[in-house]
Amino acid sequence: MSLSLSAAQPAEPADAVDGVWLECIACGDTFAPFEEICYTCDSCDGLLEVRYADLPTFDDFSGTGVWRYAAALPLESGVSIQEGATPLYEVPRLEADVGVEALRIKHEGMNPTGSFKDRGMTVGVAVAKELGADRLACASTGNTSAALAAYGSRGGMETLVLLPAGKVAAGKIAQASLHGARILEVEGNFDTCLDIVQDLAEGGEAYLLNSLNPFRLEGQKTIGLEILEAFLADYGEVPDRIVLPVGNAGNTSALYKAFRELVQAGELEVDDVPKLTGVQAEGAAPMVEAIENGADEVRRWDEVETRATAIRIGNPVNAPKALPGIRETGGTAVAVSDEEITAAQRDLAEEGIGVEPASAASVAGLRELRAEGVVSDDERVACLTTGHLLKDPDAAAAAGVDPEPVPGETAGVLDHLEQ
Ligand SMILES: *Cc1c(COP(=O)(O)O)cnc(C)c1O
Ligand SMILES: [Zn+2]
Repeated sequence: MSLSLSAAQPAEPADAVDGVWLECIACGDTFAPFEEICYTCDSCDGLLEVRYADLPTFDDFSGTGVWRYAAALPLESGVSIQEGATPLYEVPRLEADVGVEALRIKHEGMNPTGSFKDRGMTVGVAVAKELGADRLACASTGNTSAALAAYGSRGGMETLVLLPAGKVAAGKIAQASLHGARILEVEGNFDTCLDIVQDLAEGGEAYLLNSLNPFRLEGQKTIGLEILEAFLADYGEVPDRIVLPVGNAGNTSALYKAFRELVQAGELEVDDVPKLTGVQAEGAAPMVEAIENGADEVRRWDEVETRATAIRIGNPVNAPKALPGIRETGGTAVAVSDEEITAAQRDLAEEGIGVEPASAASVAGLRELRAEGVVSDDERVACLTTGHLLKDPDAAAAAGVDPEPVPGETAGVLDHLEQ
């Protein structure tokens, strides 16, 4: 199986360009990159992965941000707004409270548009340019549209975003709007938006930049590479576990790919690979269902609901890449309630870290698994927080304390403070 952790480095096919090619994870067919546009396999409709004839070692990385890892990416440079190199915060109080050996928070909300989607877009938009695309499109629960609008605009391309009407947080629509995307508010949920935008892309209307696009996931691999390098520097070992929120499971797939490539390059032992641990909201948990049932395929949930709008997804398109990632690394998946998500948002805020609801799912999930004894007290864990607090100001205000009205003079304010 090509997605196994012990798979050998694949042989370079004739259609590779400069040692880079696309390969179907289902049937193994290969395709030339940067020539014809293809998102899925022509033969069997399976998901594609970018493959390399030469895999880098840690010594090949230099500089900072996503493009530090150019040796692990399909291009040498991209359409960049200085994405990546996000903080990996220590959280001593939360660490003690959860009860693990070490807990670090990788805050992806500190990217240029406030989510990890920027890491995928810096690569994906550069590939679109290479392919000569002039219009870019995505379906989005919000953050992909903000990133696409900013990177597309910086790359001098038109952008089109399809959003589920009434289900996108205010900050995200504001970003897509100011960066000049054409915003279509679709009657339906995210999965409906993705169905439509895939039809548009297949009809040649636009270049698709959802995480179905294998190039985007290459950029997102760098989250894993940054975490591993930081843990090696601070602890001399990679983390035991990485916990992350799961929507379309693009990050889960991307991190797993980063680890597989390090194993193939001889930089990481199979036994040391961090356990990939996915967290979903109870109202949108098809991946958790598949992991719990030992299923090979994910059942599409037509009705999904959660306050964590960024992961309000019923049909995770990258499931065929992510399920092996969770299983082969010895990880798991867990669902948490909206109340647990809000509580975790407050826990992080107490440490000075402001995140949107979906992001806090990772910490809520870690707590849950620690309580169940699935995570043990001697583990070193990295939790991914995917988006910034200001993305969803309404959720932050609802989770936080209320402002108190006071009169416009000092004596009145003092009176009020004494109450
Ligand atoms: C996109 C997004 C997710 C989901 O990530 P996947 O890679 O699709 O699983 C989670 N949190 C936030 C804030 C996001 O923007
Ligand atoms: Zn195929």
